[in-house]
Amino acid sequence: MADANIFPALIAHCKEYGYIFQSSEIYDGLSAVYDYGQNGAQLKKNIRDYWWKSMTQMHENIVGIDAAIFMHPTTWKASGHIDSFSDPMIDNKDSNKRYRVDHLIENYSDELRAMSREEEAEALIASMERLISGDDFEGLKNLIDSNKIKCSVSKTCNWTEIRQFNLMFSTEMGSVAEEANTIYLRPETAQGIFVNFLNVQKTGRMKIPFGIAQTGKAFRNEIVARQFIFRMREFEQMEMQFFVRPGTQMEWYNFWKAERLKWHQSIGIPAQKLKFHDHVKLAHYADAAVDIEFDFPFGWKELEGIHSRTDYDLSRHQEFSKKKLQYFDNDLKEDGKPYGNYIPYVVETSVGLDRLVLTILSNAYEEQKWNKEDGTEDSRVVLKIPAKLAPTKLAILPLLKKDGLPEIARQLMNDCKSSFQCFYEEKDAIGKRYRRMDAIGTPFCITIDHQTKEDSMVTLRDRDTMTQERIALSNVKEIIKGKIEQ
Ligand code: ATP
Repeated sequence: MADANIFPALIAHCKEYGYIFQSSEIYDGLSAVYDYGQNGAQLKKNIRDYWWKSMTQMHENIVGIDAAIFMHPTTWKASGHIDSFSDPMIDNKDSNKRYRVDHLIENYSDELRAMSREEEAEALIASMERLISGDDFEGLKNLIDSNKIKCSVSKTCNWTEIRQFNLMFSTEMGSVAEEANTIYLRPETAQGIFVNFLNVQKTGRMKIPFGIAQTGKAFRNEIVARQFIFRMREFEQMEMQFFVRPGTQMEWYNFWKAERLKWHQSIGIPAQKLKFHDHVKLAHYADAAVDIEFDFPFGWKELEGIHSRTDYDLSRHQEFSKKKLQYFDNDLKEDGKPYGNYIPYVVETSVGLDRLVLTILSNAYEEQKWNKEDGTEDSRVVLKIPAKLAPTKLAILPLLKKDGLPEIARQLMNDCKSSFQCFYEEKDAIGKRYRRMDAIGTPFCITIDHQTKEDSMVTLRDRDTMTQERIALSNVKEIIKGKIEQ
C-alpha cells in the first residue's frame, strides 16, 4: 500500500543527500524541472547503463543509437504530434489555474476515497474513462459540473469550457528571424529511431525481427506538473522499437510485456508493487497498449508503456518524406518465392528514466527504529538501493585518522577504485559514518582498525542487515565485486 506520508520525507532526503535538487533553486526554482546531484546522477547513470546492457548486449538482435533532440519539423507533422499531441484542459475562471481534465477528476476521486466513498470514486473514474475514449468534452464538462468539482486554489466551480492544449515546446532554428524555421524539442525519443530505421537496418544488416534502442531527453509542456520527478517538463526516456512482420505483432507485444515486467523485478522491485493496466483509449497509432504501473507513495501510476504501434509511424514517414521505408524479407516465402517488401510493424517499450529513479528511491527508503540492548531507542534512515544500482558500492573507513590506518585504507581505495565506485572518509565516529552511508544507500562499508595491522583482517559491514564480519584485506575487492554482481 502506498504511504503518502513518506513522500515529503523522501523528497527532503533526496535534497539532503545530494540526489535531486530543484532546478535553478537560487532563483526560486523552475517549475517541474529538476537537477540530479552527485548521487542522483550516478544512480541514474547506473539504471541507464543496466537498461542499455539488458537491451543491447543481452539481445543479439537489438542495437542502440543516439539521435539528435532537434529533428526536421516535418517529423512531427508525420508522427501526428502537431495535430494531436494534446491533452484536454480546463481553466478555473477565478484563479486562472489550468488543469488537465483527467487529473482534476482523478484528484476528486481520491478525495472521495479518503472519505470512504469508494463506490462513487470508482463510478466517477469509469464515467471519465468512457467519456475520454469518446472525446466527449461536453460530457466531461457535465461530469465536472454535476460533481461540483472545485479548483484547489479558488475553491469555486467556475470553469471554462474544455479545450485541447498541445504539449510540444517550440523554438526557432536559423540566425535571421525571417529565415528561421519553427522546430520542436522532441516530445519522445521514438521518432529518432523511426527516421533512422533504414540506416540502421542496412548498415547493420539487421534481419526482422530486430530492435533499435535509445535513451535520451524528451520535453513536454506538462500543465499539471507535480509529484516531484514523476512528471517533469524535461525528462529522459529509454525506448526500444522492435520491428516485426505484419501479423506477428500480438505475439511480440505479449513477449515484451512479460519481458519488461521481469526486468523491473530484476532491479529489486517487488512483484506486488507492479501491475499491468490496459489502455482504455488507444492512441491514434496503436492497436494494443498497456502500462506497467508501480505503487508510488502517491498511488498506482504509470512507469512504463508497451505499445503495439502497427506500421503507422513508418508509413507516415514514408508518405511525408516520399522515401521508401520498406524491408525486403528474404526469409519469408510464399509458394517458395520471397514474400517481398513490406513496412514492418512495431512493438515499443518506453520507460521514463526519472520515473525509474523515483521508483527505486521510493522502494528503497525506510525509516527504522529499534530498541538497543540497554533499552534505549536507536533509529536510522536507510536507502536499500540494490547493490548493482547504488551510486557508491563501498565506503572505506579507517577507524582513526592516525597510527597508519589511513595509509592502509588509501591503499585499499587505490586497489578497488578502478573496479567499482568507492568513497573514502576518515572524519567522525564510526557509527555516525555508517549512518551517513545508510542514508546515501552505500551497500557495504569496510573499516580498518588497529587489529588490521596485526592480522590483515578488516570489518565488512552490510547496510541492510547491519551485520559485521571480519574478512581478509586481500579479499575485499573480489568479495565486493561478487556481491555487486548478484
Ligand atoms: P502520462 O500518462 O503519465 O502522461 P504518457 O502515457 O504520456 O504518460 P508515454 O508517452 O507513454 O507517457 O511515455 C513513456 C514513458 O515516459 C512513460 O511511461 C513515463 O515513464 C515517461 N514520461 C512521460 N511523460 C513524462 C514526464 N512528463 N515526466 C517524466 N516521465 C515521463
